[in-house]
Amino acid sequence: MFADLHLHSCFSDGTWTPEQLVEQAQLHNLNALGLTDHDTVEGCARMSEACSKHGIAFAPGVEMTTELDGEELHILGYFIDPTNSDLLSQLAKFQAARQQRVREMVARLNDLGISLHLQMVLELANCHSPGRPHVARALVQQGFCSNHEEAFERFLKKHRPAWVPKWKVQTPNGIQLVHQAGGLAVLAHPGLNRADRMIPFLVDAGIDGLECFHPKHSPGMAAHYTAIAKQHGLLITGGSDCHGLNKGKATIGTVRLPHDCFQKLADSARNRQSASGQQGRENNSDGDLPIADTAILK
Ligand code: AMP
Ligand code: ZN
Ligand code: FE
Ligand code: FE
Repeated sequence: MFADLHLHSCFSDGTWTPEQLVEQAQLHNLNALGLTDHDTVEGCARMSEACSKHGIAFAPGVEMTTELDGEELHILGYFIDPTNSDLLSQLAKFQAARQQRVREMVARLNDLGISLHLQMVLELANCHSPGRPHVARALVQQGFCSNHEEAFERFLKKHRPAWVPKWKVQTPNGIQLVHQAGGLAVLAHPGLNRADRMIPFLVDAGIDGLECFHPKHSPGMAAHYTAIAKQHGLLITGGSDCHGLNKGKATIGTVRLPHDCFQKLADSARNRQSASGQQGRENNSDGDLPIADTAILK
């Protein structure tokens, strides 16, 4: 029994619908899934329904864009309530900023003499949380680049001419937002973000887990982060970071997390939710803390 807890759907920059993701997961004999779209939870309701139809366990999730000490860190939120109003209002800000960013990227491309139409990119993205992969796909479709990689290399990678920085929240605020929405916060793909030096700080900030297993983590890196997770008493997660056919070949099935890790995550989320419910009743409040609006534009 295996899980995949890092999946992107067409509600962000994945190419598959939630139903298609579930269909693919079945082909790979996965029996627990997490949907972690970039800065949106809009796919969670459909994914939950598709999973329950097929007897697959489901963790509603999100991959939130955060920043700590100049480094972009992605925080995965699991077992969040996708109807939580604080979460939804913060995610709406991310989405508005992402849409504005696409407009700026297209404007930069136009300034470079690339006559890509904004409308065409927005239609192709067809979601509230667009990203660079949509712009890359549009560049390929319109014949300006021969593939996704070329689009990133020439235009979209950090400090390339059409790159526009992304709106982020400070990582501790992202963790707090996940907690307020009843979820657990996990540091995504720490091996890709030179995050090791930040882990003790993140532990103090309340991080609950580390994504030890990821297609871009070598077996050595997976073992390294598993040891760090154990050292700090953190949960261990993993997933394929599948974006459907965005990058050619889909990665679903390349990371198979033992079901036990999913179970521990689910149990821990339940314990946390019942503890905060208890605390809320004792305080005669709903347990919500104010979220500082410290989102920054870098
Ligand atoms: P964004 O959220 O707009 O910054 O886009 C980030 C997404 O773009 C990642 O989740 C990857 O799917 C993709 N990506 C980032 N860097 C590259 C790259 N060098 N080549 C291809 N895809 C990339
Ligand atoms: Zn992505
Ligand atoms: Fe990520
Ligand atoms: Fe991801």
